[in-house]
Amino acid sequence: NKQVILKDYVSGFPKESDMYLNASGTKKLKVPEGSNAILVKNLYLSCDPYMRPRMRQPIPGNQTYVQPFKPGSPITGYGVAKVLDSGHPNFKKGDLVWGLTGWEEYSLITTTERLFKINHTDVPLSYYTGLLGMPGMTAYAGFYEICSPKKGEHVFISAASGAVGQLVGQFAKLLGCYVVGSAGSKEKVDLLKNKFGFNEAFNYKEEPDLHAALKRYFPEGIDIYFENVGGKMLDAVLLNMRAHGRIAVCGMISQYNLEHPEGVHNLMTLVGKQIRMEGFMVFEYYHLYPKFLELVLPHIKEGKITYVEDVAEGLESAPAALIGLFTGRNVGKQVVVVARE
Ligand code: NDP
Repeated sequence: NKQVILKDYVSGFPKESDMYLNASGTKKLKVPEGSNAILVKNLYLSCDPYMRPRMRQPIPGNQTYVQPFKPGSPITGYGVAKVLDSGHPNFKKGDLVWGLTGWEEYSLITTTERLFKINHTDVPLSYYTGLLGMPGMTAYAGFYEICSPKKGEHVFISAASGAVGQLVGQFAKLLGCYVVGSAGSKEKVDLLKNKFGFNEAFNYKEEPDLHAALKRYFPEGIDIYFENVGGKMLDAVLLNMRAHGRIAVCGMISQYNLEHPEGVHNLMTLVGKQIRMEGFMVFEYYHLYPKFLELVLPHIKEGKITYVEDVAEGLESAPAALIGLFTGRNVGKQVVVVARE
């Protein structure tokens, strides 16, 4: 049972060498007699930005929003897997599932609350790490539940070509909004405009003045900001919001590798412009998963929603794939293939 192990807690920018492949962890896994655990074969693993805060050493008394990983143990995260054996009444041998699993070939899953049975297999299975999994639900909950969107509104999305952003933009377009995204390369900007149908997109790395760039794309201001990056981008957006605008704080990836987060200077605009800024966590919305599938599956089949994945082959490629999220190496949802069934 090959595994990807976290060596030790990480500070600063994560490196491939912070993790290693343990090829000799061949202990045979078994569902213990009388337990309701399930034994799975992992097929696809998901690389997600929230995994970086999990690599940090916990500070006593300082509550973090995610449980830290255990150094010396396999990384855990979302994935798609096949059930090999089950002591749980809701899962049986042969079922396909998505949810929390381990970065290893086989996992014994003892907590099944965050495990979903896959009933629709006429789409790529890897979609359950992205479009039809946790990032897709994040886009859905963040946009429809937090942003209170209306037709014709002006929507801005940062890290827009990523796992979450590409879907938020397509939801906003389907609703009839004017949509602009920012991303970190020409290739990503082209994708936003030509594949996902954004009205406009720009490379934030080539804009010396983000405030001026946003003014150019939103001369009348922004109604909705879907926040994925934080830092300087958030400060510039605050100056360009319209009265009664909404900011859904999904994440702030520009801050995850900093020991001391950057300050935000323009928060006073929230008062004068009566802006609502609200953070959210996707797992509070998993009860909406069936409703989400009902909306998204027909759109996928009719070609109204498309999705771009960046696929890394093999468990050994997982550490590089994960840290690539923080340099913007991934183009679309970063997936790791462990096995194709
Ligand atoms: P992505 O697929 O978008 O990958 C991360 C991207 O972030 C990179 O490709 C890069 O794109 C961009 N990025 C990296 N570093 C920086 C930086 N310093 N400044 C600006 N951009 C940067 O990830 P996801 O779509 O999976 O996640 C997007 C956001 O959503 C993250 O903040 C994540 O934490 C959050 N999230 C929150 C959830 C919740 O429940 N609240 C659930 C899931 C995700 P580029 O080349 O464009 O710079």
